[in-house]
Amino acid sequence: VNEVKSDIEIAQEADMIKIQEFASRLGIKEDELEPYGHYKGKISYSFMDRMKDQPNGHTVLVTAINPTPAGEGKSTVTVGLGQAMNKIGKNTVIALREPSLGPTMGVKGGAAGGGRSQVVPMEDINLHFTGDIHAITTAHNALSALIDNHIHRGNELSIDVRRISWKRVVDLNDRALRNVTVGMGGPLHGMPREDGFDITVASEIMAVLCLASSLSDLKKRLAAIVIGYTADQAPITVHDLEAEGALTVLLKEAIKPNLVQTLENTPALIHGGPFANIAHGCNSVTATNMARKLGDYVITEAGFGADLGAEKFLNIKTRAGGIDPSLVVIVATVRALKMHGGVAKDHLKAENVEALKKGLANLKKHVETIEAYNLPHVVAINKFVHDTDEEIQTLKQWCEDQGINVELADVWAQGGEGGKDLASKVVSEIENSKHSFKPLYTLQEPVKEKINKIARTVYGANGATFSAEAEKQLDFFAENGWTDLPVCMAKTQYSLSDDPGKIGRPEGFTIHIRELRPSLGAGFLVALTGNIMTMPGLPKRPAAMNMDVDDNGKTVGLF
Ligand code: ADP
Repeated sequence: VNEVKSDIEIAQEADMIKIQEFASRLGIKEDELEPYGHYKGKISYSFMDRMKDQPNGHTVLVTAINPTPAGEGKSTVTVGLGQAMNKIGKNTVIALREPSLGPTMGVKGGAAGGGRSQVVPMEDINLHFTGDIHAITTAHNALSALIDNHIHRGNELSIDVRRISWKRVVDLNDRALRNVTVGMGGPLHGMPREDGFDITVASEIMAVLCLASSLSDLKKRLAAIVIGYTADQAPITVHDLEAEGALTVLLKEAIKPNLVQTLENTPALIHGGPFANIAHGCNSVTATNMARKLGDYVITEAGFGADLGAEKFLNIKTRAGGIDPSLVVIVATVRALKMHGGVAKDHLKAENVEALKKGLANLKKHVETIEAYNLPHVVAINKFVHDTDEEIQTLKQWCEDQGINVELADVWAQGGEGGKDLASKVVSEIENSKHSFKPLYTLQEPVKEKINKIARTVYGANGATFSAEAEKQLDFFAENGWTDLPVCMAKTQYSLSDDPGKIGRPEGFTIHIRELRPSLGAGFLVALTGNIMTMPGLPKRPAAMNMDVDDNGKTVGLF
């Protein structure tokens, strides 16, 4: 009786509504929906044209404390809260990122929520879904092929083969591809040069797709991508290669948001999926803006902790999408807080109130960060079965003593039913707050100042230091007029600092900026700290080894 079903088992029992019927209940017209099988569909451009004068719903951003190997369950809470909002009578739509196959086959085994709070069909969403990520991979590599062909055919643009910044991509964790040589085999096979692969979700095209507001904006952003430089450092763009049209063709379906449903038939738009540590970490602007037209409330998630995904949501995505967020939910778990308080992963089941109290410093920092944006917030405690009453009570009491809104979310075990208190709190906070969201910096401030503000206000650092290389790059960006852009920080997710070993709330540290990269299509400058990998590797026993499919085509072993 007490048998706990796996996520995939629960998902495969879901009572899904056929996508045409589901879309029509949401007010999407027949010709605005493009079905992909029985339970997935893309929503076409004409929907937004029709809805453009309709009011926008409230945007609720779900973020978390710094992730630990204990897991925080941000997607689970996002889905659970969306279901709970509908249970209390609020017309709510969820907006999420698409899972990348790298982590799915590597460590995560799936990223579509968990327990009774999942989006379905979960195997499809976790595997090839509607092909968006494949389209991005293809568009990215088409550009690589055009670059190498241009060089092979005489290199009219004088691209310096040592200064090509455009690598190739694949949506897998494949460390053997980090550094490769292409063009080997003699004059018929191109110009030999060093190259490398990133994971697709780190591609600038992923960021471009997620930040583009329309097809024409997509094309404009693609044209602006810098792929490398001439020997005397003149930038070469996609437009110079006359490639933006072809890339837009390859992406014209991928830019349409995907509609699916949760286990409780709450609508969810799942679209675009950049990582939050090496990219900007949010689902597409088009999906969020469409969700704002479909729902009075939108529950959306940004990757990793509030130092990464939420920071980028609030400083990058809000500007690109004209989004004015109403409230932030900060997910915390007793387990992860205990880890921030020094408990090892295999000792998490034992009650440890002292460690929990110590770990609260991490939560406190993220609450302060959200306050710096002038946004109301609620802490959601994602309940795990081994949490003791004493631990939960300690966490709740601590929040109450500090005047922080807090609610227990038992959405993994109970679905929307277990998140009704959280939903009511979110609604009442939004209704009663006189929030006036303000981003952390203006675009006109010097780049160093923007980075320093993020380092001090969001990470709690003393400030940022810059390598000689980064200093040189900043001068170069200034000469090219590339400075009035937001900054996309590339930093470890495990720590507020740039050292993954420093858990809890580190103090007295500085953030070291090793390198800067212009992403002019995405419209931001990437600041790299520490050793951030843009192509992850697989663990010793990859999640892939548990996956299988039965003779009827049913997938097993995703979690
Ligand atoms: P995140 O979005 O923070 O990466 P997810 O929501 O994807 O986390 O959850 C990661 C994993 O943890 C999933 O397999 C999910 O089923 C599991 N999980 C999440 N919340 C709970 C919970 N309260 N109890 C048990 N397992 C949970």
